[in-house]
Amino acid sequence: MGKWSKKILDLIYPNLNLCVSCYEKIDDKFICHECMRDIKFNEDFNRVDFNDFHAYNACYYFGTMKNIIYNFKIHKDFRSGEYLSIILNSYIKKLNIKIDYLSYVPRDRNKIKKEGFDQSHYLTKTLSKSLDIPYIKLLYCIGKKHDQKKLDISERTVNIKDKFFINKHVDLSMLRNKKVLIIDDVATTYSTLNEVCGIIKKSTFEMDLSVLTIAKTLI
Ligand SMILES: [Zn+2]
Repeated sequence: MGKWSKKILDLIYPNLNLCVSCYEKIDDKFICHECMRDIKFNEDFNRVDFNDFHAYNACYYFGTMKNIIYNFKIHKDFRSGEYLSIILNSYIKKLNIKIDYLSYVPRDRNKIKKEGFDQSHYLTKTLSKSLDIPYIKLLYCIGKKHDQKKLDISERTVNIKDKFFINKHVDLSMLRNKKVLIIDDVATTYSTLNEVCGIIKKSTFEMDLSVLTIAKTLI
């Protein structure tokens, strides 16, 4: 079902539940059984360690999960966003790690202006509410980034240099010795996350930095 047919159905039957991945009618709140079966959760809860941070990924990026992230980012389907934040919420609870603050990898501000929202900001704000953990806007992103998907690993590293900056309105001293969890959507090579966490670590007091992405690509 296309985006417009879904919008028309929403108008006629506002309480009709549609699967956040395939948009078929369902009895459950968010997702049909078939799409649910196709989601591969990272059930090992394994942690990837980098110099500046630890990384966790809730799921793997293919099939249903790819659809849901696409429906959220491109179609601005906030039910998909709500479902993703529920997945992140339960993953964080199962990880059982202490978190003092949440933050996120911001989208390029030209894109926010053009498309009207920042998906990681939305997810972090929603998570902050459901987990009762404060969130801070630690960074902002400027300039015209080339689409990362079209670049190889070395080009990706160059491409993101000098795009992210610390938000000067945040009182960084409050982060001393705190545990901060950064939320991002998809991890491929970790080049953006390495850059972002490097900037945060250089600019702030000693802190424990972790990252949680919704999904990790299989490459
Ligand atoms: Zn479905």
